[in-house]
Amino acid sequence: MSQADDRIDAARILARTLGPGGPELSCEECFAELDRYVELELAGADADGSVPGMRAHLAGCPACDEDHRSLLGLLGDG
Ligand SMILES: [Zn+2]
Repeated sequence: MSQADDRIDAARILARTLGPGGPELSCEECFAELDRYVELELAGADADGSVPGMRAHLAGCPACDEDHRSLLGLLGDG
């Protein structure tokens, strides 16, 4: 077995460790909660407490972060 194979195995184990039930949302979960999260943010409520893992997902996922920003701008201006 090569070193590259070892690295892939390590990545799989890490992904499994952080999988469902981990601190970070999936993109589907993020999308499902994004409206509610932004409304809480704009209301000055505890958005991060109400949607655990959202902040971490946005920090690590440019696509969802972009959606978050555009929704924030859209609802914030309204
Ligand atoms: Zn995402």
